[in-house]
Amino acid sequence: MAEERHESVRGEGRCTRSAWTSRRRRLAFATMELRTHIRDVPDFPKKGIVFKDITPLLGDPKALAYVMDTIASHYQGQGITKVIGIESRGFIFAAPVALALGVGFAPIRKPGKLPWKARRQEYALEYGKDVIEIHEDAVGPADRVLMVDDVLATGGTMVAACSLVSALGATLVGCAFAIDLAFLGGGKRLPVPSFAVLTYS
Ligand code: AMP
Repeated sequence: MAEERHESVRGEGRCTRSAWTSRRRRLAFATMELRTHIRDVPDFPKKGIVFKDITPLLGDPKALAYVMDTIASHYQGQGITKVIGIESRGFIFAAPVALALGVGFAPIRKPGKLPWKARRQEYALEYGKDVIEIHEDAVGPADRVLMVDDVLATGGTMVAACSLVSALGATLVGCAFAIDLAFLGGGKRLPVPSFAVLTYS
């Protein structure tokens, strides 16, 4: 009997049912494993916040590679021309994703850090208020941009970052995160679809 064929998990072509199943198992396992690399730190940086500490994940090359590969392969073939990372933990994920997609990286930074002409945007955090800035020439109307940060919480940071990029005339393609704290509903506030490697419901 001819082997049944199915779309592969990430839609990268076709594979046999057994290959498909084992790949799904591998991915499910990798996702479960990944969760053990995230450390919950209660009451940091202030009371009531459970901080998702990604340093155990960063310390494991397999886990780190899995996160970068998963984000990059999700956006492969979508015509991304620039990846933007948000200071500071967003930089860790954004630059390797940019390299994997074969495009450039641009930073969004805390105020006063960028050396050239910059635009600024104020926003509310899960724990406080902040301002972010982008160089005026970071992106332009010809760019299709992927936004990257480590954690999506309330979405305030990413909404502000997207406003900066849109104001420069670029097209937003998506917002990618290592972790989505989905119970906070940040994804619903974003102007474009989000993608996360790990979701906490
Ligand atoms: P938000 O603007 O609320 O989506 O917050 C996102 C930003 O704050 C990201 O850059 C995260 O690095 C950081 N952040 C917010 N909440 C947490 C959390 N519970 N654990 C780790 N990082 C967080």
